[in-house]
Amino acid sequence: MSYDNDNIFAKILRGEIPSTRVYEDEETLVFMDIMPRADGHCLVIPKTPCRNILDAAPGQMNACMATVQKIARAVREAFDAEGVTIQQFNEAAGGQEVFHLHFHVLPRREGESLRPPG
Ligand code: C5P
Repeated sequence: MSYDNDNIFAKILRGEIPSTRVYEDEETLVFMDIMPRADGHCLVIPKTPCRNILDAAPGQMNACMATVQKIARAVREAFDAEGVTIQQFNEAAGGQEVFHLHFHVLPRREGESLRPPG
């Protein structure tokens, strides 16, 4: 499957549409999900083009995983969470809506369900 340079996260990376950035390094960017399903819900993406996990190079996966771990620890602390859920979708049949690789980082508390999308 090909990579669409005009997907919404590519535009966020280029600064063409706004986002609330919370962390970045050379290889990854993290911003708040615009429709949060939990307080502190954020998204980790690679800075280089990548459609999804089926298309990712080892270096992109390594960089994203290192950032996911960093952010999981940070949101647990910042949102006083008891746990953290990581979610990731691939292709439309797998639930993916934006076709740039991303990992959802969701702070969780005992007994609290994730809010529905949208
Ligand atoms: O299903 P998938 O993980 O592809 O959904 C895309 C996610 O990107 C949704 O959680 C949506 O709220 C988020 N999004 C965003 N900012 C945008 C567009 C979508 O955080 N401008």
